[in-house]
Amino acid sequence: MIAAVYHGPEDLRVEDFPTPSAGPGEVVLRVDYASICATDLRILRGVHRKYSPGTVRVPGHEMVGTIVERGAGVETNYAVGERVFVAPNVGCGLCPECERGQNNLCANYDAIGITLDGAFAEFMRVPSAYLKQGNLIPFDNALDGAAVALAEPFACVLHGQRALRIGAQDVVLILGAGPIGIMHVLAVRSGGARKILVSEQSAERLRMAKSAGATRVINFHEEKVSRVVQEETRGEELT
Ligand SMILES: [Zn+2]
Ligand SMILES: [Zn+2]
Repeated sequence: MIAAVYHGPEDLRVEDFPTPSAGPGEVVLRVDYASICATDLRILRGVHRKYSPGTVRVPGHEMVGTIVERGAGVETNYAVGERVFVAPNVGCGLCPECERGQNNLCANYDAIGITLDGAFAEFMRVPSAYLKQGNLIPFDNALDGAAVALAEPFACVLHGQRALRIGAQDVVLILGAGPIGIMHVLAVRSGGARKILVSEQSAERLRMAKSAGATRVINFHEEKVSRVVQEETRGEELT
């Protein structure tokens, strides 16, 4: 198969790579969509700690695919032809962090595209731990796979916003209107808030923030963010 393979800093090669096959409890997906995360750019620069010198690996951790092969013992609800989203991280399942459900803090985590070959390839193997821990999530065929591939970063956005408990009367300030900032705008808008302010320097990104539903966008080279916040809140404290 063809894959984009990391060979070292600034050395990503599109080349032939062994096509994976499914061992017991595993599935192989045909990759339908894979999005590029800032983490991938860090990997490419050679500064990701899980890509130590000498690592040859396929990056890509935000993806959807179609099951094309099932290993022995895989439950029948994971059928060949099913489209699935893959949550990229699994913990060891045994340590105190994993037992608390915080597998992001597990010292021995695995992550597709980070510690395992990932989605910048035609096919991708999904290890059995992912099936056991519920990381393989089938989704409705009516949904746009390209949008579902963004479920992982969007889940991070929702997780952060739940912790903030934003209410209908709140004024929300979002710093930065990159992809994640825009997702924050969309999520706040759907949950409800009195105002959504976005600060950013790129005119293009400010335009996107506005069209995503920001109440007011602030180019921080032209306006002082703290002054705009005071204006929009009449000096109330932001939460
Ligand atoms: Zn990512
Ligand atoms: Zn663990």
